[in-house]
Amino acid sequence: MQKTDIIIGGGFFGMYLAEFLSKAGHKVILFEKGNDFMQEASLVNQARIHQGYHYPRSALTALRSRVSYPRFIAEFQDCVYDTFEKYYLIGKILSKVTAKQYQQFCHRIGAECNPASDKIVRLTNPHFVEAAFETIEAAFDAIKLKDIMKQRLADAKIESHLNAMVVKVGPDGKGLRVHVKGPDGAINDLYADQVFNTTYADLNQLIVASGLQSIPLKYELTELCLVEPPDLLKNCGITVMCGPFFSVMPFPSTGYHSFTHVRYTPHRTWTEAQHTTTLASFREDGGAISVPSAWEAIRRDATRYLPILTDCAYQRSLWTVKTVLPRSERDDSRPILFKPNYGLPHFHCIMGGKIDNIYDVIDALQLQKGIV
Ligand SMILES: Cc1cc2nc3c(=O)[nH]c(=O)nc-3n(C[C@H](O)[C@H](O)[C@H](O)COP(=O)(O)OP(=O)(O)OC[C@H]3O[C@@H](n4cnc5c(N)ncnc54)[C@H](O)[C@@H]3O)c2cc1C
Repeated sequence: MQKTDIIIGGGFFGMYLAEFLSKAGHKVILFEKGNDFMQEASLVNQARIHQGYHYPRSALTALRSRVSYPRFIAEFQDCVYDTFEKYYLIGKILSKVTAKQYQQFCHRIGAECNPASDKIVRLTNPHFVEAAFETIEAAFDAIKLKDIMKQRLADAKIESHLNAMVVKVGPDGKGLRVHVKGPDGAINDLYADQVFNTTYADLNQLIVASGLQSIPLKYELTELCLVEPPDLLKNCGITVMCGPFFSVMPFPSTGYHSFTHVRYTPHRTWTEAQHTTTLASFREDGGAISVPSAWEAIRRDATRYLPILTDCAYQRSLWTVKTVLPRSERDDSRPILFKPNYGLPHFHCIMGGKIDNIYDVIDALQLQKGIV
């Protein structure tokens, strides 16, 4: 008999999963609490399609990225932006890797990494930057990605609901009962054979509301500054590794560059014990975020490494809640969270730490008996 799957959360992971399960022959219903798909982490992120360069402290994450990168590029080529120059700089003070170690690491994972041209080296401050490398990496346009996924859901004739918030999940015979609050505030409940919780920053909210034990996670209120870079850097992405540094790179869905800083981008952090804290907790009545922007601190610090960055023209900030596994705090790895049958049979909790982790999720689902 055909299985009915309910997917909670219309970010990239929920949408991709919906299509995957539908193609596997399941009846799928997708619920998203927002008024459009992919408006949270799947939109507000650095848009980097990881090739491994970012993970010198986690060889496994670096190697997995190298496997997923060509898959993602091939599958989503219409939203891939790869015509910019991509530089990784090594910080001189406080860096967790030296230039030599970084080059060796790139060599070990088979990622191209060549000394940057004088054009870039001349822009760096040698007191703060040990070396600059040119690499191969791409970015994705999150709005084009959303449009692709919407079309794919339409082609697969998947039932999906916006402004529909799942408030809790409970047992019901051999399956589960899902309580959904619609746009009119009314609660409807539906039966599902399986439920997938792909709500990222809200995973624990739903878990606890369903009477289950929260999953250890760390949350960060995150500010993504959007800037117009100086002309010389318009076609460049620059990431300083590996420590309390920064990254400025194309953010294709707006035409600006995103500017993030390891020290200043996270404004507040909390754990699963405060699972009810959400982005809304930091919004004023009018919707604006009540926390002041860290842009000036970011610009001041980054200018020490690349003085030209003082000419960035700040546009606006996007805010979201970043969610990471406690383990990632130590080694900066990005494994997936995959908790099949979490607290209830057929209730599966899933989270990816980067967009291409979707392939690890699909592999994990296929290995788990009885889901697909
Ligand atoms: C600041 C930042 C930078 C990042 N940079 C990168 C990067 O450069 N490269 C990369 O690959 N990855 C990056 N990531 C990670 C990547 O963005 C995430 O791994 C990915 O977007 C997670 O997708 P998702 O679908 O799980 O989550 P989301 O896109 O957040 O989707 C979850 C959805 O669930 C919905 N929802 C929540 N609760 C309910 C409910 N009860 N009922 C119905 N709907 C609900 C939400 O409204 C939301 O739409 C970054 C993340 C952040 C936050």
